[in-house]
Amino acid sequence: MTTKLCVPLTANTYERMAADIRAATAAQADMIELRLDHLRDHDLASLRRLMDAARSFPGELIVTCRMAEEGGRWDGDESGRVSLMELAGLCGAHYLDFEYEAWRRSANIRQKIGLVCDVNTDSSRPRARLILSKHDFERTPDDPASILADIAREPAHVVKLACKANKITDSLLMLEALRASAAVRPTIALSMGEAGILARVLARKWGAVLTFASLEAGQESAPGQVPVTQMREMYRWDALNAETRVYGVIGCPVAHSMSPAIMNAAFGEVGHNGVYLPMRVEPDYTDFRAFVDGCLRRPWLDLRGCSVTIPHKQNLLRYVEERGGDIEPLARRIGAANTLSVEKGTRPDGSDARVSASNTDYRGAMDALMAGLAGGGDLGDAAVVVLGAGGASRAIVAGLRDAGCRVTICNRTADKARALADEFQATARPWNDRGRLEADVVVNCTSIGMWPKVDESPLPGGPRLGKMVVFDTIYNPIETQLLRDARERGCRTIDGVAMFVNQAAAQFQIWTGIPAPTATIRLHLVQRLGR
Ligand code: NAP
Repeated sequence: MTTKLCVPLTANTYERMAADIRAATAAQADMIELRLDHLRDHDLASLRRLMDAARSFPGELIVTCRMAEEGGRWDGDESGRVSLMELAGLCGAHYLDFEYEAWRRSANIRQKIGLVCDVNTDSSRPRARLILSKHDFERTPDDPASILADIAREPAHVVKLACKANKITDSLLMLEALRASAAVRPTIALSMGEAGILARVLARKWGAVLTFASLEAGQESAPGQVPVTQMREMYRWDALNAETRVYGVIGCPVAHSMSPAIMNAAFGEVGHNGVYLPMRVEPDYTDFRAFVDGCLRRPWLDLRGCSVTIPHKQNLLRYVEERGGDIEPLARRIGAANTLSVEKGTRPDGSDARVSASNTDYRGAMDALMAGLAGGGDLGDAAVVVLGAGGASRAIVAGLRDAGCRVTICNRTADKARALADEFQATARPWNDRGRLEADVVVNCTSIGMWPKVDESPLPGGPRLGKMVVFDTIYNPIETQLLRDARERGCRTIDGVAMFVNQAAAQFQIWTGIPAPTATIRLHLVQRLGR
């Protein structure tokens, strides 16, 4: 079964809902769901007109009137709800969605809706198909597969379960349930919330009946729905299939990461059958391990690689070490990794999967710096001041020391500057001295000046001398306050875009074995930054 992209329509008047039907048609939705419970007034004549308007939609139509106890807005009586749904079924709805609990407790619903949906006959062409659904807006149960199996004991054409994912591992549970259920019956199984995106996008890999996608951001019928255009354009919905390999960016927070946009565009450009998703994993090591272990235990998921960002770069090293995987010597020396690669084994429990960790920030930063220098990029024994002593700083300090530079580190937390300086034979100076230091190159590895606090600068007075080279690793915004001040003072400036493109391109090549389309990566990054 090819999974449909279904757009729920949640307007509160019949006129607006009719307009949304036209908008969903223009957005190339495969299906629409009319959420009658969102309408302010409920009269049968208006519903009949709405169903007429819905005939212009070229795809299939679900009609739902969700009761309050399952997250809907219906606050009228049950007989009124049944009358609306009966009429929708008689007026051409392809599917009627009723809650499993309401179905079980009401003989009236079973009799009337069962009749409209022909569930008690052998009719091969029912007038409307019955979706029996269950929703939990609080949590994901331990065994969602058994709930789908329970629903399937009733005469439903489609079983549906939607639960809040409080952690990304809840999405893995839901995908497991979807995979088992969809193999034997038409199934919809979804995770709600930010951590649920994995289950929403990957629903297509295991042939769910549908996944929901909002008409536009802000018009979701449940939390975590991705806008339909983003589903099609960014996640390349139409190209996803059972063989699609899974990648992502593990971080916390991760919702605003640019990586899904650029990596998916790069996969599309070279025809690689992969999808790259945001993977929000809570900061603790135990959360990191639970998620990656959870993916590896399910080899059918086909996780092949992840970018790993704040706050998990050291967790990645620890994880790969504990699992006996390969750590690139450079990543070990730097003490941080940003790239997880997975090589699948053959055992069904995934226990023979091989993991490895590498660091592409080092090369990405050094290549960007060299390319930005005058005269072909020779650093020689340049004096470099590095601001910050976090993950990016570690990679850059290592790179600068390997190139023979004299490095001075200034960090707000002095102990961290000293520890980093000791490790790489650099010098630590107090944070407050940063504006007074003589240097050929200044590199900002702090997050000061990053969106949304774009007016801030780690060097509030600007760089001291016009002959300095100023490299800001921040890429959002492209021109930071620091770079603006430096440019106005006549300094040569290097922004963080090249570093970002370089490190992403290196990850792409590690995972796919082919050179990355760097022009596409740059274009998509700059386009998103320009929005
Ligand atoms: P990190 O490990 O969390 O380190 C953050 C650093 O910023 C620490 O040194 C921290 O100082 C300092 N800092 C944060 N807020 C500060 C403030 N208000 N005042 C003074 N210092 C402050 O993060 P990271 O991974 O190294 O990332 C740091 C920067 O590098 C980010 O802006 C990120 O955008 C950039 N980066 C860019 C790329 C790229 O590809 N272009 C790749 C990676 C990172 P304390 O130690 O005192 O907390």
